[in-house]
Amino acid sequence: MEVSLRSVRFTCGRCGTTYRDGLLLGGYGRLVVRDATGRHPSVADLMADPLVDLLGQVAGERAALFARVATTPADVQGAYLRLCDPSPAGLPWDRDALPCCPSCGAQPTAHERLEELLTTDLPLLRHGAFDALPREQQRAAAAGALTARVPSR
Ligand SMILES: [Zn+2]
Repeated sequence: MEVSLRSVRFTCGRCGTTYRDGLLLGGYGRLVVRDATGRHPSVADLMADPLVDLLGQVAGERAALFARVATTPADVQGAYLRLCDPSPAGLPWDRDALPCCPSCGAQPTAHERLEELLTTDLPLLRHGAFDALPREQQRAAAAGALTARVPSR
């Protein structure tokens, strides 16, 4: 899927290499994520994905049952990412991972937004394993993903 990104100059925190990559400009129902190492950028098309509707529905039912359970859009996004197939490296998706250093693979410690835009074609996140579940198990998996706690960073 084609996405417009803002070009950003990153500085590696380990070896000092500077490199350019892109970050998403305003979401419009899309999410660009990388795996936990900052590799394999991929895009989620949240507006067009029925899994998001299912998560919203399950979250609403939970809120009706347990009055104090509030679900934020970030919770739904986190649950969505937990239900997606892992990255090509077999790792979970991480909303906060930045493009890693091309020289040493570390995360950047500084970044500077540049004026130009970058249009790039990113693979769409998939949830084939989830889709293969029977309907009732899908609801249970959605509820489990909404309940899972995000490990603190
Ligand atoms: Zn580096």
